[in-house]
Amino acid sequence: MSTKYVYTFGDGKAEGKADMKNLLGGKGANLAEMNLIGVPVPAGFTITTEVCTDYNKLGKDAVVAMIKEQVEAAVKTTEAAMNAKFDAKDGSFPLLLSVRSGARASMPGMMNTVLNLGMNDETVKIIAEKSGNEKFAYDSYRRFIHMYGDVVMGVEAEEGHHNPFEVVLDELKEAKGYKVDTELTVEDLKVLVEGYKAVIREHAGVDFPTNPWDQLWGSVCAVFDSWNTERAILYRRMENIPSEWGTAVNVQAMVYGNMGDTSATGVCFSRDAATGEDQFNGEYLINAQGEDVVSGVRTPLEITKVGSLRWAERNGTSEEVRQAEFLSMEEAMPELYNELDTIQQKLEDHYSDMQDMEFTIQDGKLWMLQTRSGKRTGAAMVKMAVDMLEQGMIDAKTAILRQEPNKLDELLHPVFEQSAIDAAKELSKGLPASPGAATGQIVFSATAAEDWAAAGKKVILVRRETSPEDLKGMYAAEGILTERGGMTSHAAVVARGMGKCCISSAAGVLVTGTSMTINGVDFKEGDFISLNGTTGKVYEGKVATITPTLDGDFGKLMDLAENNTRMYVRTNADTPADAQTAREFGAKGIGLCRTEHMFFEGDKIWKMREMILAEDLEGRKAALAKLLPVQREDFSGILEAMDGFGVTIRLLDPPLHEFTPNDEASQIEMAEKLGIDVSIVKAKVESLHEFNPMLGHRGCRLGNTYPEITEMQARAIIEAACDLKAKGKDPKPEIMVPLIGTLKEFKMQEDIIRETAAAVFAEKGIKVDFLVGTMIEIPRAALTADAIAEYAEFFSFGTNDLTQMGFGYSRDDAGKFLPIYIEKGILKHDPFQVLDQEGIGQLVRMGCEKGKSTRPDIKLGICGEHGGEPSSVEFCNSVGMDYVSCSPFRVPIARLAAAQANLKQN
Ligand code: ADP
Ligand code: MG
Ligand code: MG
Repeated sequence: MSTKYVYTFGDGKAEGKADMKNLLGGKGANLAEMNLIGVPVPAGFTITTEVCTDYNKLGKDAVVAMIKEQVEAAVKTTEAAMNAKFDAKDGSFPLLLSVRSGARASMPGMMNTVLNLGMNDETVKIIAEKSGNEKFAYDSYRRFIHMYGDVVMGVEAEEGHHNPFEVVLDELKEAKGYKVDTELTVEDLKVLVEGYKAVIREHAGVDFPTNPWDQLWGSVCAVFDSWNTERAILYRRMENIPSEWGTAVNVQAMVYGNMGDTSATGVCFSRDAATGEDQFNGEYLINAQGEDVVSGVRTPLEITKVGSLRWAERNGTSEEVRQAEFLSMEEAMPELYNELDTIQQKLEDHYSDMQDMEFTIQDGKLWMLQTRSGKRTGAAMVKMAVDMLEQGMIDAKTAILRQEPNKLDELLHPVFEQSAIDAAKELSKGLPASPGAATGQIVFSATAAEDWAAAGKKVILVRRETSPEDLKGMYAAEGILTERGGMTSHAAVVARGMGKCCISSAAGVLVTGTSMTINGVDFKEGDFISLNGTTGKVYEGKVATITPTLDGDFGKLMDLAENNTRMYVRTNADTPADAQTAREFGAKGIGLCRTEHMFFEGDKIWKMREMILAEDLEGRKAALAKLLPVQREDFSGILEAMDGFGVTIRLLDPPLHEFTPNDEASQIEMAEKLGIDVSIVKAKVESLHEFNPMLGHRGCRLGNTYPEITEMQARAIIEAACDLKAKGKDPKPEIMVPLIGTLKEFKMQEDIIRETAAAVFAEKGIKVDFLVGTMIEIPRAALTADAIAEYAEFFSFGTNDLTQMGFGYSRDDAGKFLPIYIEKGILKHDPFQVLDQEGIGQLVRMGCEKGKSTRPDIKLGICGEHGGEPSSVEFCNSVGMDYVSCSPFRVPIARLAAAQANLKQN
């Protein structure tokens, strides 16, 4: 049997069906399905996506020859179903067609629809005569020439010029003194037809094709060609759509919404796509065709009466005016409305999902032109799934799998009021480093941020880039704006951790000390700006924000996730407040507590600096003794906030120079505090300088050269735990050694920790259970994980460093080339955001397998930024991790992604 290239539909029959999306594209498969379930759809046929692939290989002529016979037969079937004739020469009613693209996934950037195909100087006359509506006939004809010229023949506005078709139309309207298109007379439309033809001749260098078959083949090939336009290729790359998929072509009999006042066209949704409310809604226009509803040429009206009343209220339109000019379809065409209402319900029930539909009414008869699962906001996504579950339409598994985890983000951060953002002036756009909305007064230093915030002001911290010294200021600020840095810059990572809005690498922003210019305009301390960390846009002045509430549906969805997950979710948190937030979002423990962040609060930094500046062991020990109670208090707070759950505390990790005063003023202050000469401070700072600090003296290399630091930290942790236990609490500390590459590095640290713990237990006469484990973040640690696991009780994959060292990309410098790499397709994603499963993933998998080979019950988790990224979470599930850990505001996303991974992999 020869290959089937063409699938027909119409009259309640179809050769395709809904689950043939790969072959027929989304639109084609659903057009077929609607026929099969008794929904009125104009007859037509779909040319398969496989033909598109052939077209790209074999070229136009070969493919046209290949499918010609099947297309001609399908046109005959369509003619019979619609009782009309394509290329009619015998006086029967002419069949006009629409030609529509339709890939598997909906794809903007593909070819626009061509309507009214088949029109020429002869058919227009027959249609005018048979419909008794000459104006309709010529209006359709001029629309067709315009569309065909534009879409198929590529006649469009040249650089700096107006669209040539519109120039002709505008000239005519101006000459006649018309305001709107509907004022055009039949004679005007005839003039336009000739004018448009002349435009094509002039711009395309050939005549507009009058033969309907030429028109059909021209349009079909144009759809195939549009698969490889720049726009389409770019979109595919962004959305990860393979170029092998191809697009289908849908050819369908035209129905006319522009035949007069008993005709209409519209779009509708079976539920509210913005709120999720189970309320049918949409817009329609009487006497209009296709694109008119969306193009904004005329203002469409509401379909339901409820919608119309709501619209009038919002718009301040009186009931009198509403009834006179803005009647809903429900009121204007009650019978057709009822029919549409029944169909929308039928389609929603059939697909068990919210449907986005297009319809046309031709002279009192309703036709459906498209249905698909509708796009929705995060809030609507959650509400619809929970409602449909409760309505018995879907099961729990479907409700969970239908969520896009990242969209939950919208429910977790403050957002701008829509009307306020519409009115705001955009100043710049940068990387959306951490989502949310923030509005406040500009400050240029962490100290100013703290001072102003203490005085009750809302501030935006603006820096060239941030360093750990800015932490306090970042805490105090509403949002952070940096001139430099990528998505994993210090500012970005820390801000995400804090759930604080941040924009990095903002275009046109130049920060110099205590002033800033944006595209040449000056901004001073105290000026108001607003940041949208979700879009990366910076706005002038104050913009009103709202804090979305986590309503009951969100909680119900999280319960569903909880009941369907294998992995659990921890959080990366350094403060009791963050731990508390995460706990409210459902975190079960802390996967990463970075102890160094604790040193920047209040005057702790001075004690830390004293330790660093100490001349010898004695001096260090003296300084450490001062730090001990402070650390103990910090650990006590965090262990208590996560009482009953494991808390992984990482020993000191960053290079010491991050704690030293870098500016002259602080160096002088330091010298005064310690009663030493400032030159000594300067010399120390200089001596700590490293060429590659990220590969330098940090992590366990600190603890192994200065064991007294590890000893102090271990003591602080264990003492805090013992004290809590004495108070009847249930602390579960897990002490984590960072940055090991060899077993010995771990072993030395482990010995100090265990000896210290034993000493504390003896002193206090109380014992607590604790674990000692390590981060796997250096490739060598993954490669030797079996040996390490003989001693380490848990592994936490630090995939930020593992990616940095596995790729050899400096996290702090990758912003210079990663965007280009992604644009050029060298990398699909930023590997610091989406775990590189193919490469770095192998190290993770190996680490897990080797770890389990020597310690079968080893606890495995991830604490890199990837722990909150859905595809990476799925990977973690597949390699058998026990938990993922992420910033507090991503906990719900990770929980959902973990449940999805579990459901998909079972
Ligand atoms: P898109 O993918 O942009 O939605 P469509 O292929 O759905 O493009 O076509 C756009 C519009 O063209 C439809 O909403 C409909 O109004 C109109 N249209 C398409 N096919 C027909 C048809 N057979 N009869 C009447 N109008 C049509
Ligand atoms: Mg459509
Ligand atoms: Mg690390």
